[in-house]
Amino acid sequence: MVMGRSPREKVAIVALKSVNWASRISRRGAGTVAGGRVGLRIAPTLLDSLARGRTIIVVSGTNGKTTTTALCVAGWGGDVTTNRTGANMPAGHVAALAGSSSEKVVLEADEAWLADVVRSANPKVVVLLNLSRDQLDRANEVRQMAERWRQCFTASENSKVLVVANANDPLVVYAASGAPNVSWCDVATNWTLDAQSCPRCTLPLRHTQNSWSCSCGLAKPASITTTLNGELYVGAETSALSLSLPGEFNRGNAAMAATALALVEVTLEESLPRMKAVTGVAGRYTVRSWNEHRVRLLLAKNPAGFDALLTTVPPGTSDVWIAINANIADGRDPAWLYDVAFEKLAGHHVWCFGDRRLDLATRLDYAGVAFHIVDDPKNLRVAQEPVNLLANYTAFQDWMARSEPC
Ligand SMILES: [Zn+2]
Repeated sequence: MVMGRSPREKVAIVALKSVNWASRISRRGAGTVAGGRVGLRIAPTLLDSLARGRTIIVVSGTNGKTTTTALCVAGWGGDVTTNRTGANMPAGHVAALAGSSSEKVVLEADEAWLADVVRSANPKVVVLLNLSRDQLDRANEVRQMAERWRQCFTASENSKVLVVANANDPLVVYAASGAPNVSWCDVATNWTLDAQSCPRCTLPLRHTQNSWSCSCGLAKPASITTTLNGELYVGAETSALSLSLPGEFNRGNAAMAATALALVEVTLEESLPRMKAVTGVAGRYTVRSWNEHRVRLLLAKNPAGFDALLTTVPPGTSDVWIAINANIADGRDPAWLYDVAFEKLAGHHVWCFGDRRLDLATRLDYAGVAFHIVDDPKNLRVAQEPVNLLANYTAFQDWMARSEPC
């Protein structure tokens, strides 16, 4: 595979590995992004070179991309290269590819970098999960993102890419419908607030129970490859779908992962049992121990993600802990809390903490949900275990560090 690599690219790979080695030795982290940046600085074509000759699946979307990437890796089986640390921009991709020579590759890609990754890595399959508002203080408005994706998939040099796309997300359909080869997936999408008007003509969309359409002609695609209806149908294959991960949204993620894997000749019979073995993804969904309590860690970073996770909280009066920070990685503006349907938590015992606990408490007050505010997590009380803890990005990292595997 080294064949065809330029001297500059070879030097870049050595530099990348050296930086990552130094980073690990000095305990400053895995160093994947630092090494990747150095490598790309020396050889801007490094991703193209490292990707050549491999079979690559790229996964992108606002929510679920880390989980879907993990399901693709597990479902494929054997030695699969992936950017496990969630370093989902090109620096992370080159670090992952330089660290393994496996022919099978699954890469999670940040939405804003998808077009660059497709151009450089020349993937066989691209999975487009969903698009919704996320960190609007620093990210693109979601319609601009759909437009950039569309330009990527209508470009003639990307015409061989096999696209797996969510047929129930109008923004994804608009983005993917320019691609020549699309496998449309009819999977549940309960967040439609970012697609009230047509991404093509801006007129209001008509949403019905199982479909959507616009008078301009943009509509839910009629030719569906994958359906999740109790059972999973992918093309001519049918199978029961049983996962260890919770939530209907994860069943949708698994259905799309299985569709992508079918395009690289992995059958449902092979992929689904392997996916069932996935019980957590980088700590998410796992029950961990903290102060002798069992706590299920759930990561939600934006309104659509929060709404999906709230469906996994059982009805009743259980304890729900919510930790909200507003560091750079979270987005500095917590106004997005007003887009989350916290009203669903009425009746539960909700505890607010994290740096922006007062913003959260104000939002819960408007939602009519009773709450406690704690300045120090040591003051949290537990009536029923495991308690569900919903946290946004850096708050989740705090709790991963604070808790231990059970
Ligand atoms: Zn329209």
